[in-house]
Amino acid sequence: MNSPLNIFLSYYRPYRLTLFIDLLCALVVAGILLIYPLCAGYVTRTVLDNPGPEAWAQLVRVGVFMLGLLAVQIAANTFVDYQGHMMGTFIERDMRRDLFAHLQKQSFAFFDSRRTGQLMSRVTNDLFDVGELAHHGPEDLFIAVLLFTGVFVILLNLNPALTLLLFAFLPFMAAYAIYFNVRLNRALLQSRARIADVNAQVEDTLAGIRVVQSFSGEKLEQGRFNGENQRFVNSRRMEYRAEAYFYQGMTLFTQLMSIAVLVFGGLYILRDSLTLPELVTYLMCVGILMEPIRRFVNLARLLQEGVTGFQRFRELMLIQPDIIDAPDARIIQKPRGDIEFRDVSFHYPGTSRPVLKDINLKVNPGEFVALVGASGVGKTTLCALIPRFYEVTDGEVCLDGTPICNITLESLRRSIGVVQQDVYLFSGTVMENIRYGRPDATETEIIQAAKQAGAHEFITALPGGYDTDIGQRGVKLSGGQKQRLSIARVFLKDPGILIFDEATSALDNESERVVQESLERLAAHRTTIVIAHRLSTVRNAQRIVVLTENGIAEQGTHDQLMQGNGVYAQLQAVGARL
Ligand code: ADP
Ligand code: MG
Repeated sequence: MNSPLNIFLSYYRPYRLTLFIDLLCALVVAGILLIYPLCAGYVTRTVLDNPGPEAWAQLVRVGVFMLGLLAVQIAANTFVDYQGHMMGTFIERDMRRDLFAHLQKQSFAFFDSRRTGQLMSRVTNDLFDVGELAHHGPEDLFIAVLLFTGVFVILLNLNPALTLLLFAFLPFMAAYAIYFNVRLNRALLQSRARIADVNAQVEDTLAGIRVVQSFSGEKLEQGRFNGENQRFVNSRRMEYRAEAYFYQGMTLFTQLMSIAVLVFGGLYILRDSLTLPELVTYLMCVGILMEPIRRFVNLARLLQEGVTGFQRFRELMLIQPDIIDAPDARIIQKPRGDIEFRDVSFHYPGTSRPVLKDINLKVNPGEFVALVGASGVGKTTLCALIPRFYEVTDGEVCLDGTPICNITLESLRRSIGVVQQDVYLFSGTVMENIRYGRPDATETEIIQAAKQAGAHEFITALPGGYDTDIGQRGVKLSGGQKQRLSIARVFLKDPGILIFDEATSALDNESERVVQESLERLAAHRTTIVIAHRLSTVRNAQRIVVLTENGIAEQGTHDQLMQGNGVYAQLQAVGARL
């Protein structure tokens, strides 16, 4: 029932009518192509039989008939070319839509283990191949089979001996076509991979142009690029060579067939076992024979690429998102904001090294907790468990006493605001980026949020104010400014719980002060966990939790921990940036 073929076919369902008309048109085109040689035979016979003016009327009639056929053929072909291609494109779109939706449901762990570039090529190239197959597949098969059978029947009727001679060529022709088609395909795939490498090299160098230029690495990059660029040329050379051999080989075979038919046909005429009109029909049919062969070969290529593309599509679609709602998951409205880690252990999927071991931590509603510890001890990881970006390996995380796996992901994440260490901004305007916090927010609310985040002043100083396009990844803004935009987003979202991963990269004193102030405003009346790197943040915290590789080492206020002379006091003593 759920075989890959059935799933492929199910994408045709909305376009059944188009497919039906498409195949009908294909049938008409094939039929008409077969009638032309018969017409040519008829014309020849008419001229030979009545060389006088009485043939005129008949010739005109045939001419008009053929014009009619031509009109129908063009109309049918136009439908096939236009609507048929559109059907393929619609199917491609539908698959792409499903894949995009499916990708968005995947957990962080899924993306950790995959390269974005590869996923993108699945969404674009692979599905393009599938769309091509979806359109040309049924149609090519249909036309090829019809034409081939049709031609065979006509030829056999005209002269069986000559036909058998002719068809003796076919196995060789097929073998040749398949051999070179496989090589051509391999070369095509290579070319595609090589051009992807060229793209990757350009992207890498341009994205890191600041590093390149500051290390005077242009020559090095150029050298690497020239290498990739030359490999592309080599793959193209293979491709064009195979292509030339393939097409010229096909031409050779068909011409040989025509010559054979001409010579042997002449012999048969001399022996009175074939007439001249029949020979004309025969020759034209041989010309048509090229068409189904071309389509079969094309189909073989489409199948190869399309099936591979579809398999890769299915592979991704079959990966079930590993973090999903439990069947009886509850929707929470406004949580009090009581967070508890109960014996939580965690290691990243695909790794065995535990990052967190037996963590027990309770954060009270409205509390402001600072999480400190050396780099790499798992602070970011610990916080990522609360919105269920990753699933705990052992133990449980509870919100207001309910294990978070019993809360719907949507409502859980709606009640948590996260300010990440390196802020991601979408391409678009400042306004759009802040609005991401709450898509239905009004302009006034957005400006209000920006003011609370301490971002209003620098935004209005931008050339286009709130409508300034911040470009991809927000490169035109400073670190502190990006962080304030991210804070504004969270103000707009207004969640009950706040997770704030302070930027470790040094902000200038002024930015640091503004970010600090907006953090304080944001944290008011919310349960807040800050991964703190600054003394000012830590001092403000109601409680400091010190995380080490062996778990939570100590907790308390700044003063308490300084007196205790533990890990925290030592960190402070060496003046480490927290
Ligand atoms: P911190 O925020 O305290 O600096 P992290 O929580 O970022 O530390 O990382 C804790 C450990 O987990 C590190 O050893 C890091 O290498 C590892 N780690 C972080 N993210 C991933 C990931 N996505 N996949 C595998 N290991 C990871
Ligand atoms: Mg971190």
